[in-house]
Amino acid sequence: MPDAAPSVPDVPPPPETVRLLWTYDFLDYDFGIEHPMSPVRLDLTIALVRELGLAPSEGVTVVEPVIASDETIARIHEPAYIAAVRAVSAGAVPDESLGLGTQDDPVFPAMHEASARIYGASCDAAAAVWSGAATHAINVAGGMHHAMPGAAAGFCVYNDAAGAVRRLLDDGAQRVAYVDLDAHHGDGVELAFRDDPRVLTFSVHQNPMTLFPGTGFATDTGGPGAPGSAVNLALPPRTDAAGWLRAIDAVLPHALRAFAPEVIVSQHGCDSHRFDPLSDLRTSVAAQRTAAVWVHELAHELCGGRWVALGGGGYAVVRVVPFAWTGVLAEAAHRPFAPGTPVPPAWRARAQEMTEDVLPTTMDWPDVEFAPWSAGYDPGVELDRAVQATRSAAFPLLGLDPHH
Ligand SMILES: [Zn+2]
Ligand SMILES: [Zn+2]
Repeated sequence: MPDAAPSVPDVPPPPETVRLLWTYDFLDYDFGIEHPMSPVRLDLTIALVRELGLAPSEGVTVVEPVIASDETIARIHEPAYIAAVRAVSAGAVPDESLGLGTQDDPVFPAMHEASARIYGASCDAAAAVWSGAATHAINVAGGMHHAMPGAAAGFCVYNDAAGAVRRLLDDGAQRVAYVDLDAHHGDGVELAFRDDPRVLTFSVHQNPMTLFPGTGFATDTGGPGAPGSAVNLALPPRTDAAGWLRAIDAVLPHALRAFAPEVIVSQHGCDSHRFDPLSDLRTSVAAQRTAAVWVHELAHELCGGRWVALGGGGYAVVRVVPFAWTGVLAEAAHRPFAPGTPVPPAWRARAQEMTEDVLPTTMDWPDVEFAPWSAGYDPGVELDRAVQATRSAAFPLLGLDPHH
């Protein structure tokens, strides 16, 4: 058929692969016994993942991360700050103006190495997804979204989430979406890219008038170099699971479809849970899993599946974090828990000793019923006013109708 147009070979797509970045050395990121971000949360998460047979498993590989070089960290952080982190790790007196040695970020001996390992893992996850080595990649130790170019902040030393986005750009991506589901504003990531039109940052969080870091209002829509590049959804304290999903559904899919990213980096901080001691939001593991399902679906709809998922905040370290992040991995692996899947008894016995909360006996959670925005909204309701504020501020800059 010499005159026929060359036909596209009918080759099936390669099977999806999931890359889980993990090493027990992640547990070295430890601010001490008094600090809310206990490494127990990671230990219990991976123990649950293993006992459920999720990783390693067919299609899910476990890869040991490398410690990022100073050069790689300097794609986000100032060299003088990296040098300061190295110095305090070696015993120097910390400079609190750099956020080091503070109540939020006390110094510990492995601080540089442990932080650089998390950063390196998220960069690896980004590179693997962009190259096609993996369809989805997950670093539950990551999501350190508050770290600033020249300072530690909010339990975060090196901003691996920003590092992952930077790595994607460095490797050739032209449109990267960052989705931050943590109860706190993803300020460090937004700041890193607020003047870069190649990056859209979306953050849903508790109203910054009432919670650290005090930024992330609806009217914050990006820097002068990239208007519309930031979308901030600031929700009233006490927003529940249904309200949280209603708000996300009213904004996130519209913004992402308008932006048309090639790849999504998401941060799954689970501190919006009603049992979390550090926020006043009242979501549930079920809602957090639903949000992960949505991000996953958007990655397949818009990005050929390319999805990097990170951990983040989460201070109900026994009762919530392991269930939330095991759920993210199960979702990425396309292996959601069947109804009645038991929590592995050995895991449950071990974890139950660490908490007075009664732990769940099954891995599945019922779907959260919520009223979609498309069915109407009520300006008399505080949540709906917050959602409409975001739509009004951000949507026109994305070419979207805020009232539709
Ligand atoms: Zn948080
Ligand atoms: Zn998938």
